[in-house]
Amino acid sequence: MTSFNDFGLHADINRALAAKDYTTPTPIQVQAIPPLMKGRDLCGIAQTGTGKTAGFSLPSIHHLLTYPHRATPRGCRMLVLAPTRELAAQIAQSCRDYGRFTKLSISTVFGGVPINKQIRDLSQGVDILVATPGRLLDLIDQRALRLDDVEIFVLDEADQMMDMGFIHSLRRIAKLLPSRRQNLFFSATMPKEIAGLADQFLNDPVTVSVAPQATTAEKVRQQISFVEQKEKQALLHHVLKTEEIDRALIFTRTKHGADRVVRHLAGAGIQAYAIHGNKSQAQRTTALQAFRSGQVRLLVATDIAARGIDVSGVSHVINFEIPNVPEQYVHRIGRTARAGAEGIAISFVAPDEKAYLRDIERVTRTRAEPVKLPDGFNEMVRNLPKPVQAPRNTGGKGRDPQRQREDAQRRSGEKPNRGPRREAPAGEGAQPQRKRRFRPRRGGVGAHKGAVTRVG
Ligand code: AMP
Repeated sequence: MTSFNDFGLHADINRALAAKDYTTPTPIQVQAIPPLMKGRDLCGIAQTGTGKTAGFSLPSIHHLLTYPHRATPRGCRMLVLAPTRELAAQIAQSCRDYGRFTKLSISTVFGGVPINKQIRDLSQGVDILVATPGRLLDLIDQRALRLDDVEIFVLDEADQMMDMGFIHSLRRIAKLLPSRRQNLFFSATMPKEIAGLADQFLNDPVTVSVAPQATTAEKVRQQISFVEQKEKQALLHHVLKTEEIDRALIFTRTKHGADRVVRHLAGAGIQAYAIHGNKSQAQRTTALQAFRSGQVRLLVATDIAARGIDVSGVSHVINFEIPNVPEQYVHRIGRTARAGAEGIAISFVAPDEKAYLRDIERVTRTRAEPVKLPDGFNEMVRNLPKPVQAPRNTGGKGRDPQRQREDAQRRSGEKPNRGPRREAPAGEGAQPQRKRRFRPRRGGVGAHKGAVTRVG
């Protein structure tokens, strides 16, 4: 099976694939599409980046087109559950792309945005609904959504769902689904408890796997540097200066850690955005769009926020802190080297992280190539520019990060580079709605709508 035409997909789908220039199905697509076309349940062990979204959405769209009927009011024919808003939005976009020559209706529901529009969108019923579990249950509780007509149920990134504590929500949702339905279950890893969850959802499934459990993404060159925690920022600045970086994702373990890295980079005049759970949806969307479009090359992220992010051209993944769960390492480095491209993963390991490193090496059965600290590193640590300050509750000129960046550039003898005001110097997307309401007197540069005024 070497061509999409061999699957017997609906002509409108083949047209959309041709428009996207997809010629050859990926391994997960080759394995998953034929049994799904026959209506079988499926358990897929695959990471993001393998083409699994098309693997499950193409045969599902084919089913919806082959058995056409209107969705019932407040109902949906296909339900896709994803752990994060970003992933949900991305899956919905893929479905729109693959269904662009059809009249299928596709909606997303997730938290962090007003619920009323979602209630209106669902009132007539939709063909495909992509949702995160929490908001889905809110809508069900408000009687804006019912699941008794779901024909296809997809649970994506099940391992991440478990990590995020969605297990009770999933159990509740499972009880609301009709017993006759097709089930698709995807997870990057399949430890025992995930296999148990799969058992609850699946009925005589076909199991497909594109990589053995927790196999490190092929084609990723893994490097490692041993460095004190407090010296990592200097090493990061060195790496950013010396590596040929198209786009880099920098991972920290905590949200505050991500903000701190961004503030330090801003202090050195290096533009970066942070994306994590404390950011508003508007900020997360702005950061992701800026990263996707190439407006910023650096995105500093926590694991959960970065899950499922599909941005092509990520040349480097930098583990500023290595994860304490080995599977998370696999997910992180899977962000680079996507769609056949080569990628580099660089990990900074502090003495107290060595135990985590051993776990990662055991699970991935690989060893990263050690890279020595650069000559003159102590000097670099001593000369590290000061971070811009974290925002306080009061606004004002002194907290304007662009001004602080300019000050930092002046201090280092550079001519300040005054970019357009609307560009974020660091850290954030749009001002969070809720906070703006509590700061009515905020004046100064950047207080106008859509501007970015704060860091961290
Ligand atoms: P996914 O694993 O579903 O997140 O897909 C990873 C990326 O591969 C996405 O950008 C897809 O648009 C792209 N993709 C999926 N299937 C194919 C294919 N058969 N040929 C080329 N690109 C693909």
